[in-house]
Amino acid sequence: MRKSYIAGNWKMHKTVSEACALASELDSAVGQNEHKVMIAPPFTALAAVADTLKESRIIVGAQNMASAEIGAHTGEVSVLMLKDIGVATVILGHSERRHVYGESDGLINKKVRLALSHGIDVILCVGEQIDEREAGNAEFVVEGQMKNGLAEVSKEELDRVTIAYEPVWAIGTGKTATPDDADAMHAFIRKIISSMFSEESAQSMIIQYGGSVKPGNASSLLSMENIDGALVGGASLDSESFVPIVEFDRV
Ligand code: PEP
Repeated sequence: MRKSYIAGNWKMHKTVSEACALASELDSAVGQNEHKVMIAPPFTALAAVADTLKESRIIVGAQNMASAEIGAHTGEVSVLMLKDIGVATVILGHSERRHVYGESDGLINKKVRLALSHGIDVILCVGEQIDEREAGNAEFVVEGQMKNGLAEVSKEELDRVTIAYEPVWAIGTGKTATPDDADAMHAFIRKIISSMFSEESAQSMIIQYGGSVKPGNASSLLSMENIDGALVGGASLDSESFVPIVEFDRV
């Protein structure tokens, strides 16, 4: 039985004091259910939030990291710096990194391998844009992102990877994939993992759905057979909307 995994991506929101206040609020509000919970504050608040949550079951993650370990990379944040402040997880390949900042599959793969080689867990985001879906190419696009993103990752390292399927047209737009459409893509992602690694890896892989997940639609999405959790943007920015998602019940 795969464990449910709910992650909140705060993007470029919250000062250090706001971030710590929300982290404390979530720590008190999130109950003791079995679901794995992660929040990804902005870089400036990571160390303070990691400290706030050091006794908590909520995991602290980064939203991105550099593809190089150290050196002349102005404006970048290294895997060594993340480890230094106790960050155990990183989100890589988010659609905003791919489509706004032009990150390629090759660059994302470099980051994935670097994070894993340093013991940092990875949430690898994949998902098609609206024109790609309308042209019937959604599976083709996701397959390419999966195969390139996980190139040269070992079967052992794969145990520390979570996939987030996030159709780009559903992120921050209020539109969600139907539970059936999302489940079908998740099943397809499992098939790719089976062909790249093994059926056992495919069955144990946690695959989150992301794209306008809210308290009102979380249960119907998360009840689907192949949907194991959610990567939540907007609704993770306050506890009133994030906690009910973390505490969803399968309908
Ligand atoms: C995201 O940023 O990964 C995301 C899914 O955002 P939202 O929930 O706001 O659509």
